[in-house]
Amino acid sequence: MHRLQAIYQSLYDHFGPQHWWPGDTPLEILVGAVLTQNTNWGNVSRAIDNLRQGNVLSLEALLALPADQLAAMIRPCGYYNLKAQRLRNLLAVLEEGVADTGSLDDFFSQDLSYVREKLLSVKGVGPETADSILLYAAAKPIFVVDAYTYRFLSRHGLVAEETSYGEMQELFMAALSAEEGLYNEYHALLVCLGKEFCKKKNPRCEKCPLQGDLPGN
Ligand code: SF4
Repeated sequence: MHRLQAIYQSLYDHFGPQHWWPGDTPLEILVGAVLTQNTNWGNVSRAIDNLRQGNVLSLEALLALPADQLAAMIRPCGYYNLKAQRLRNLLAVLEEGVADTGSLDDFFSQDLSYVREKLLSVKGVGPETADSILLYAAAKPIFVVDAYTYRFLSRHGLVAEETSYGEMQELFMAALSAEEGLYNEYHALLVCLGKEFCKKKNPRCEKCPLQGDLPGN
């Protein structure tokens, strides 16, 4: 078994299934992926609740909302002016992409690399946000890498200190079968690992389910 498959199994056995990504619709998940940059999910939930209560959780309604009103509604998630602008940039690209059908699902049903390129063309949308949207909103098989992923990989000697997002993503995608459900679960398990054991300071290796995988063990 590949080492990254064995690690997945250890995490799954320890934490169990995560049923992860809050959000009821692809659009809601996409909005959440932008708002979650540099904040925690509790703050994002409050911002999304404001949008829901304001009855503006649709592509048309969000695009019609003046920037200052959008910023005010998403204030709980911090950097609200910047995030309002990013969201508007992204929604404008999506609107172009769904012009023929008006359906976000149709936009997402296109080729993965085409949709990824479109998302990455938006100012303020980097690979982690684009891939979160692709995996969680579009249900595409693409692995999402984040700070938790890098921390565990580097501590286990699986990547060099100076590695790129793309290299880390390729490591997982080369080792695992291309299944959206598997990538979803693995990412969620790595978030659990980072929060409970592989903390930035003082990692709790002695109790961690991956202790046996540490170099030298
Ligand atoms: S064994 Fe230590 S370094 Fe490895 S994932 Fe667990 S906490 Fe992090």
